[in-house]
Amino acid sequence: MECKEALSLIDLYNEDKLRGAQKEQFLLHVRDCPSCYEELDIKFIVTRGLKGLDSKEKADFNFSGMLQNKIKTELSHIKRGHSVLQTILLFILIILTALMVFLL
Ligand SMILES: [Zn+2]
Repeated sequence: MECKEALSLIDLYNEDKLRGAQKEQFLLHVRDCPSCYEELDIKFIVTRGLKGLDSKEKADFNFSGMLQNKIKTELSHIKRGHSVLQTILLFILIILTALMVFLL
């Protein structure tokens, strides 16, 4: 993913509207791209800060740490999703192979 695309997705990410491969590409990009990460970090802090004003919780959070944890958690969830899918596909492949061997 290019910076331009990643930057255009920041607002969607903050509204939690990114899904699947697009979200994964976005997260991988901001994790490895300091300038996009910084942009996301600023918007994340602003978004959270505004929400904090609405709620009674007094905002004394480490927002940057929160964002880093969020990205890490989401990426690990996405990766886990992949490995489950891969396991299922492998299982299907083994069954198909066994069927072929049996039928031939
Ligand atoms: Zn970038």
